Amino acid sequence: NSFTHDVIIIGAGAAGMMCALTAGQRGRRVLLLDHLDRAGAKILISGGGRCNFTNVDGGLAERYLSANPHFARSALGRYRPADFIDLVDRHGIAWHEKTLGQLFCDGSARQIVAMLEEECAASGVETKLLTRISAISKPDERFRVETPGGSLAAPSLVIATGGPSIPKMGATGFAYDVARQFGLKVVEPRPALVPLTLGQDDRLFETLSGVSLDVVASLGKARFREAALFTHRGLSGPAILQISSYWRHGDTLSLDLLPGTDAAALLVAAKQARPRAEPRTILREHFPDRLADVLADRLGLSGPMLGHKDQALVAAGRRLNAWPFMPNGSEGFAKAEVTIGGVSTDGLDQRTLMAKKAPGLHFIGEAVDVTGWLGGYNFQWAWASGRAAGEAA
Ligand code: FAD
Repeated sequence: NSFTHDVIIIGAGAAGMMCALTAGQRGRRVLLLDHLDRAGAKILISGGGRCNFTNVDGGLAERYLSANPHFARSALGRYRPADFIDLVDRHGIAWHEKTLGQLFCDGSARQIVAMLEEECAASGVETKLLTRISAISKPDERFRVETPGGSLAAPSLVIATGGPSIPKMGATGFAYDVARQFGLKVVEPRPALVPLTLGQDDRLFETLSGVSLDVVASLGKARFREAALFTHRGLSGPAILQISSYWRHGDTLSLDLLPGTDAAALLVAAKQARPRAEPRTILREHFPDRLADVLADRLGLSGPMLGHKDQALVAAGRRLNAWPFMPNGSEGFAKAEVTIGGVSTDGLDQRTLMAKKAPGLHFIGEAVDVTGWLGGYNFQWAWASGRAAGEAA
């Protein structure tokens, strides 16, 4: 026939490989293409080289951001963290649970890539790396994919090229161009899980670069209790990366620097107990020294405790429990772990990830407007959406 394959998948990342091995297991003739010289490049650098490959709570749709928060439920419900753990176990890959349900390899992220490559090979998937795609078209019932090696054709085409975060790793906005070409909408892509930068007013914190502490970061209804890290440009650490997915220019986020402690009551009680103590001495009992000193300066607390009115101490304490930061930006796609936004779920079928307007064309993984929290959720979405499309294509 005039098809070279049954399914062509563009993007040999997490979602593309899962889709390929799934379709291959169903007996489909699958071709997996990537422009890089290796598959799974982002998996290799993920989780500090140990790949946080899923989260025990990875099936909870509430842990994902999307213009349509219900969209991800179908795929996430059919391929669960336990299913991926089974696969990892069958390959004898040792893993452990870190904090907050995050599962990591004991050894290396390379084991996850090797596992996916073995599964693809075992199900007959043909993989072509270093392949530039110059054009896609649908002249008839086939999708045609133009490559330097010639024209390929299949009734099913899966776009698994991820989002534009970390361009130096080969990330592109290719999926968005294909989506627009076939009449799908794209939700404005923004960097997410990304460090935030601070402006002039908060420059004092520059001196704190490297200091980290347990905080509750909040913005609107989003709240994360994890570590925050001061950097020379602003704020990072898991609590900040999480909240960055909710942040937009102009938003002020709030950091509770003493979670679980009423800082106002603490300061008033300290004044009664030790009226001659310096505020920074009190603060040093609760914060790293460098931070305590900066906080005391910023709160205008100098001289012995007894020199400060209770009212002023209460105000200072309230600020410690809800310190406002107005970032002036983020470190952008160059540093973003993921892209929020992407191919609009409006145009996609939630069971198969197929474009409603272009039967046979699927979008999966990070390319789609579904973005997980930090902690293995983004890979779980890649596996689940890859599975869903691989079962349908
Ligand atoms: P990708 O894995 O990005 O795969 C896309 C593939 O498409 C790539 O191989 C790329 O080369 C290819 N491609 C792109 N454009 C083209 C084109 N024009 N032509 C041909 N091929 C193309 N998530 C977690 O859940 N846990 C973690 O521990 C974790 N750690 C991370 C650490 C870092 C530093 C980064 C950057 C991300 C991390 N993530 C983590 C996020 C996770 O890596 C992504 O969400 C996930 O890889 C998305 O899978 P995907 O298959 O959709 O896209």
